Amino acid sequence: MNDEFFMREALSLARAAECLGEVPVGAVVVRDGEIIGRGFNSPIGEQDPTAHAEIAALRDAARRLGNYRLPGCELFVTLEPCAMCAGALLQARISRLVYGARDAKTGVHGSVVDLFAVPRLNHHTRVVGGVLAVECGRVLSAFFAERRGASGDQTCISEFPLPGRLST
Ligand SMILES: [Zn+2]
Repeated sequence: MNDEFFMREALSLARAAECLGEVPVGAVVVRDGEIIGRGFNSPIGEQDPTAHAEIAALRDAARRLGNYRLPGCELFVTLEPCAMCAGALLQARISRLVYGARDAKTGVHGSVVDLFAVPRLNHHTRVVGGVLAVECGRVLSAFFAERRGASGDQTCISEFPLPGRLST
């Protein structure tokens, strides 16, 4: 299975966020080719400024593995991580980060700063950006365009499995 396969899974989680009125970002944690954590952006619904997709996916994976560190795991996310999520990835000892679209406002893999290039901060995580970047960016730009237009989109159907904690 390649990076695009798992990025599509992250994209379906981004769409789940969108259906809940959240900025559409999704993430999965993968170990040995198997998804062990899923998350999507939900700060509004959760009333939690830390409820980014990466944090949710890391929590899901850590709970499943019963370990606060996730060595040998990869995280796929549709948007370049922010500083908070980059910090969480480093704390979790994620081996490899794969992201889709760049985030000019808060991205810390070179868009604003490059936290992953600081050797004293990071010696665990390899980074690949730009996987399905067009699709990942399109989900976001469509979301913001629709919000500006304020026209209700009725195409949201819950056809994807939501993470357990959010499935009510
Ligand atoms: Zn973040």
